[in-house]
Amino acid sequence: MARTALVTGANRGIGQEVARVLAGDGWDVLVGARDRARGDAAAARLRKATGGRLRAVELDVTSDASVTTAAGKLRDGAIRIDALVNNAGVHGAARGADGVARTIETNFFGPLRVTLALLPLLRDGATITNVTSGLGALGNLDAAHRRLLADPALTRDALVAELHDFVQGGGTGWGGDAYGVSKAALNALTRVLAAELAPRGIRVNATCPGWVRTDMGGRGAPRSVEAGAASVLFGITATTSGGIFRDGAAIAP
Ligand code: NAP
Repeated sequence: MARTALVTGANRGIGQEVARVLAGDGWDVLVGARDRARGDAAAARLRKATGGRLRAVELDVTSDASVTTAAGKLRDGAIRIDALVNNAGVHGAARGADGVARTIETNFFGPLRVTLALLPLLRDGATITNVTSGLGALGNLDAAHRRLLADPALTRDALVAELHDFVQGGGTGWGGDAYGVSKAALNALTRVLAAELAPRGIRVNATCPGWVRTDMGGRGAPRSVEAGAASVLFGITATTSGGIFRDGAAIAP
């Protein structure tokens, strides 16, 4: 039986390449895109390139309504998911408080929202891969927040409350910018969810693509989109849970 993957933000960049590789490997791939037309176009492009089975799912990771609707449609279609790749992300969103809110909403609350909504559809033994960044290293934060995020007793509710406070404070007080905070918090969330979902055999890992030539990474980035996607895809084969990886090797939080 074919396995099914859902990749968020798969209409371009690293997400699109992850979708392409999985479809080429025989997976059924749900191409998440916040814009329906862009998702359909990407699915059509990738079907042509791979001869594989792909279809678009309209999914704006910042919208409860969008995520709930998408999950409902998948449930009605009796879809079960073997691999969720939380790839959608923004960097350098508009500056100021709006930019902070959008960055945290997309990069931290987005993966959390999508994961919780899709949990009933995930098979036991499924994988969740959160796409992170080296800019989320704890070393980029002040000592208090390094301790907070590294605390093994950190709960999901406490982490969520801290991120709401960060947004309400306009993105100040952690020692790092909103993008770095979003990914550092995503790494901590990965660890917390890994513990929560262990009873179902669901493995949750964060994978960093490195600095990649996409719209986000820019033309001067040293890595190809293929190399970035390969680094991300390790999350699907990782046998451990709760870790952070680049190119298949564990990296420090
Ligand atoms: P990209 O080329 O800018 O593509 C970003 C993707 O995310 C697009 O498909 C975009 O959709 C989607 N997206 C943004 N906001 C969304 C939302 N609210 N709901 C659904 N989809 C949304 O970026 P990329 O370089 O491929 O980055 C992919 C992931 O890798 C991100 O999580 C990023 O933080 C991470 N990363 C990238 C680099 C790098 O060097 N490129 C390095 C480290 C980590 P639209 O087309 O609709 O905007």
